[in-house]
Amino acid sequence: MTQTAPARLLIVGPPGAGKGTQATGLAEAYGIPAISTGDIFRENIKNGTELGKKVQEITAAGELVPDSLTNELVQDRIGQDDAKGGFLLDGYPRTLGQVEFLTGLLEAEGQAIDAVVQLEVDTDAVVARLLKRAQELGRVDDTEEVIRHRQDVYANETAPILGVYEQRGSLVKVDGMGSVEEVAQRILDALEARVPRA
Ligand code: ADP
Repeated sequence: MTQTAPARLLIVGPPGAGKGTQATGLAEAYGIPAISTGDIFRENIKNGTELGKKVQEITAAGELVPDSLTNELVQDRIGQDDAKGGFLLDGYPRTLGQVEFLTGLLEAEGQAIDAVVQLEVDTDAVVARLLKRAQELGRVDDTEEVIRHRQDVYANETAPILGVYEQRGSLVKVDGMGSVEEVAQRILDALEARVPRA
């Protein structure tokens, strides 16, 4: 088996860009866990944990969970054994404060993010996709008003993080429109030269 450096990746894109789906496939291709903060919050809400109770209303309104809570959760998760050999974060960082926290956390271990995949999509197409998903899955947080609000939160709070990673030279932009397979292949092609796979 060839030994490769652990891959530490992020995937970023507006709600409905297909991040979750692509994250799963990409993590599998690299043999690393896909860690979705949204999934972790939903799981906690479903199980009625203390954390779940704290974030239920916030997530339902399409607001962001406070950085303090989210950062602690991610620190805990990426400190677990299965993330020692790399990880793919989906839905985190989502604010400049989270970027700062994550950067410091990794730096303390002599680590850094290798690449940030930015899924570029058409906003109208994305909103349509989310409305369809809300109908199919009955995701209670996906009313039209909340969907639009989440797009605004993305534009205001999350999009600015892309500039930080661009400056660091780690941003990889990928066209997110097309079939799941097409987009997955584009992501792998774009990462190939930069982040070796085992
Ligand atoms: P989507 O798939 O629509 O982009 P996610 O499943 O990633 O949304 O997240 C669902 C909700 O969980 C978000 O709307 C937000 O309220 C909360 N959340 C997820 N990740 C974060 C984060 N990094 N910081 C703050 N809140 C978050």
